[in-house]
Amino acid sequence: MEIKRTTEFFIETARRFVVRPVNGNTRCLACGESLLAAEQCAALLQINCRLIFQMIERGAAHFVENPTGATLVCPTSLAAALSAESPTVRTGEET
Ligand SMILES: [Zn+2]
Repeated sequence: MEIKRTTEFFIETARRFVVRPVNGNTRCLACGESLLAAEQCAALLQINCRLIFQMIERGAAHFVENPTGATLVCPTSLAAALSAESPTVRTGEET
């Protein structure tokens, strides 16, 4: 008779994001929050930049373009827009 055993390992991880302001501390003109580069918002919210630009085009997220052409996004409005669209979107956690 053969006895089979199954062993499961569960690994819990944590990620810490250190976000440094772009171009000093640029503030959102609509709500006053610090603006971040689109790539920083993507990493923070675990989404891709394409979705961020789609949200901007829909007018769902606050943003500004700096003189160099870089897009700075308001993470607060972006997170609120994502939550309103999809309540399953989780922020700051790995899936
Ligand atoms: Zn804002």
